[in-house]
Amino acid sequence: MASLPIGSTIGIIGGGQLGRMLAMAAARFGFKTIILEPQVDCPAAQVANRQIVAAYDDEAALSELARDCAVVTYEFENVPVLAAERVAKSTPVFPSARALEVSQDRLTEKTFINSVGLKTAAFRPIDSDGDLEAGLAAFGGNGVLKTRRLGYDGKGQIVFRQSSKTPVSGSCASLGSVPLILESLVDFEREISIIAARAEDGSLAAFDPAENVHRKGILHSSTVPAAISERTAAAARSAAFAILRALGYVGVIGVEFFVLRDGGLAINEIAPRVHNSGHWTEAACAISQFEQHIRAIAGLPMGDCARHSDCVMENLIGNDVERAAELLAEPGLVLHLYGKTEARSGRKMGHFTRLTRRC
Ligand code: AMP
Repeated sequence: MASLPIGSTIGIIGGGQLGRMLAMAAARFGFKTIILEPQVDCPAAQVANRQIVAAYDDEAALSELARDCAVVTYEFENVPVLAAERVAKSTPVFPSARALEVSQDRLTEKTFINSVGLKTAAFRPIDSDGDLEAGLAAFGGNGVLKTRRLGYDGKGQIVFRQSSKTPVSGSCASLGSVPLILESLVDFEREISIIAARAEDGSLAAFDPAENVHRKGILHSSTVPAAISERTAAAARSAAFAILRALGYVGVIGVEFFVLRDGGLAINEIAPRVHNSGHWTEAACAISQFEQHIRAIAGLPMGDCARHSDCVMENLIGNDVERAAELLAEPGLVLHLYGKTEARSGRKMGHFTRLTRRC
């Protein structure tokens, strides 16, 4: 694809904070954006040129989006694959529907990751408490039971430890009797993620890995640099590049890893989009993950991922947003709020990045 002319319109499926930050990055290059999102006045539409208010699988809305945009992307991985395929009939969709398909189902995702020669936790599909009993026995009594689809921020998961004797009976029903996956419980030293990108011409780029801390299943902080060896960082980078190549991917991807006690890596999941653990790039790099994604999908040269500062990004969840004014008084702190009016518990309202040291 030739690069998009200035003034072209980019479609974004999904209207949350990731869509908002993508729309802002697109605007800096003179692109217009249209958001497809059922929720009126969503965070992304507040900063975009237009919103199509409709369900993600609304055929008329998808046709309108395809007609009015030069390229279409998305900000979350649960966009229906059929919706992406429908748009792709007439307008390029980046990343492709295949990337959505792979990442929407944890079983497909892990099978794909292993097929590229990369490690994950051991896993098996679970459709009944009997399957679960057998799976736990195979994994030494420890495991994490997860819904295969639509799980996020630790929702739809039960942890089993041999020591705590969590009852198996009724577990599948308690997760909604939907297709499940049991993963072995990984004894990790820390969690990291890497934000990488691929352009249509095959060029690759990756930001430095971030070290992530989760609280109640939600990302709390990302620290860069991560406390890992250069060898582990290089392995994370080459794993992300292997995934991007295997998918013929265009755009930014987030890859989450467990760092094992011996410095080895197991992939937890991939997100075919910009990622919460990459928000630090807007403060500590000349080019953010959002700009990198826009560059990749618009056929522009990939940006330099170099980091000018060490930093710590923290999410503002629920009432944390009340700290905004106090945080703004701190020098070397970059604040970002998402324009959400209601600070419900567990809701991501914003984030900030503290620059801790110039590199
Ligand atoms: P997920 O929704 O799959 O990203 O899981 C949320 C968090 O639960 C991860 O960031 C880990 O802290 C933990 N977790 C998930 N899967 C496993 C696993 N197989 N072994 C150990 N911890 C896990």
